[in-house]
Amino acid sequence: MALRNIVKEGDEILTKRAKEVTEVNDRIRQLLDDMIETMRENDGIGLAAPQVGVLRRVFVVELEDKIYELINPEIVKTEGTQTVEEGCLSVPGCVGTVERPAYIKMKGLDRNGNEIEVEGTELLAVALSHEYDHLEGILFVDKALEIKDIDELENDGETDEQ
Ligand SMILES: [Zn+2]
Repeated sequence: MALRNIVKEGDEILTKRAKEVTEVNDRIRQLLDDMIETMRENDGIGLAAPQVGVLRRVFVVELEDKIYELINPEIVKTEGTQTVEEGCLSVPGCVGTVERPAYIKMKGLDRNGNEIEVEGTELLAVALSHEYDHLEGILFVDKALEIKDIDELENDGETDEQ
């Protein structure tokens, strides 16, 4: 495994729609391993491939010791909304209030190329929606209802970064 550099806001790769993965091969598995290592190193709860400079439809999420890996994800269903404060490893130093689905169900491929479904509520729904947006070239700051600099916050910005 290897750490990869995280691309920051301002780099145009973050504004592009990522391309489908045509073959789930060792290169993709290496990418997934590197993304997980990079996410953990940066204390994130999610990371999408464009954030490490790879314009492919791949993301990872880690919550409560469970890792979710999705290749070519599609949104199957959403229900309700929740309004949350969130951050992003590609947009350091600020958090935003974003409206996300209360429930989301996605399907996609796992690291062996098998079809899988992932569903979640609460923070998992937020993370899945946030990472999916990265694959569409959308950052949370593009849809945030309000954006704050972390140093304006009274606490130390304990927001989960994705
Ligand atoms: Zn992000």
